Amino acid sequence: MTLSIKTTRQDCLERDARDPLAPLRDQFDLPAGVIYLDGNSLGARPRAALARATDVIAREWGADLIRSWNTAGWFELPKRLGDRLAPIVGALPGEIVVTDTTSVNLFKALAAALDLQRPHAERKVIVTERSNFPTDIYMAEGLARWLDRGYQVRLIEDVTELDAAVGADTAVLMLTHVNYRTGRQLDMAAVSAMARARGAVTVWDLAHSAGAVPVELNRDGADFAVGCTYKYLNGGPGAPAFIWVPRRHQEAFAQPLSGWWGHAEPFAMAPSFAPAQGIARALCGTQPIASLALVECGLDVFAQTSMPAIRAKSLALTDLFIELVETQCAGHPLGLVTPREQAQRGSHVSFTHPHGYAVMQALIARGVIGDYREPAIMRFGFTPLYTSFTDVWDAVAILRAILDGQAYDTQAARSAVT
Ligand SMILES: *Cc1c(COP(=O)(O)O)cnc(C)c1O
Repeated sequence: MTLSIKTTRQDCLERDARDPLAPLRDQFDLPAGVIYLDGNSLGARPRAALARATDVIAREWGADLIRSWNTAGWFELPKRLGDRLAPIVGALPGEIVVTDTTSVNLFKALAAALDLQRPHAERKVIVTERSNFPTDIYMAEGLARWLDRGYQVRLIEDVTELDAAVGADTAVLMLTHVNYRTGRQLDMAAVSAMARARGAVTVWDLAHSAGAVPVELNRDGADFAVGCTYKYLNGGPGAPAFIWVPRRHQEAFAQPLSGWWGHAEPFAMAPSFAPAQGIARALCGTQPIASLALVECGLDVFAQTSMPAIRAKSLALTDLFIELVETQCAGHPLGLVTPREQAQRGSHVSFTHPHGYAVMQALIARGVIGDYREPAIMRFGFTPLYTSFTDVWDAVAILRAILDGQAYDTQAARSAVT
């Protein structure tokens, strides 16, 4: 590893010049004067999305009207996009649909997982982390309550408690692969193997993993997975999420949102539900086509590179950021929350600061866009497709200037979205 104190802005410029992913930045429309370190929350806009949106709205909807369900492939879109996403997360064709929201897909996956466990009446517990993204916990709570069969959610404080928490009473182990706050990445293969050995079914949330870190769902023995497309996959604000059901579970996969898109013959208009064969049974109802169509523009960029290349640059960017913050901002009360070990790191880095919210607002005012998560955590996402090494250098220089000059307003009112 290079010696931290020696890294200069010139070094960063040279690394950018050598970076094989650097040309991909041009495929994103990033405003001038902005260093965008929030692709973990809302990915930047692929340039192609504007023309695609115009085409969907003007031609497919405007001119072709309802014929587009067939002629523009609207009806098949959730499956077609799922097939394009599959290699990014180690899935096979026919195992993913892009549809609904992550919260809703989690509900479906959890319900299906509990259904698989129904022969084991003693398995009543859904294990997850207290530090999981809240919607994941809320959806599990809601499902447990509405099923009214004695299911309960068990929250562990830390992954070191996993071993003790997963046992003979566990139905499902529901985990987020890369923690939204800390950026800590779990070992999917090891955790899935542990759960399987104890009879628990795993449900993985890939919100901060898909397009950010290499994921091998089939190789690593996961049971079910869900994730977002509007984060690292750059699908657009509120773009539909995805759900993965491996072939080995598809026949038994039953989920309660049995809408007509999941029916074996949607246009038979039958008076009773019969599930479609394959992944289509994970669908519910009519999809937001204009939004769904834009997901493809993000996936098109991934088709030009590979997850190992993205991972190599992601680790280089996060290493550099940690190194620069710790050297340039030494003396300020910053605490690294993200694991230093590369294997345990996702693609974002979090630091605590007692005035984290105010400092982040000052950063944003100066064009460095990250975000803030309770408690006291400043979060910086690194998207190798469009973040440069020089961006990292410049962001840290601005952070340093803000901290040295105490140029932040601790009284600033909070926005609804932090
Ligand atoms: C971002 C995120 C979500 C978002 O869920 P939505 O239904 O899209 O609002 C869910 N879970 C995790 C772990 C996330 O990081």
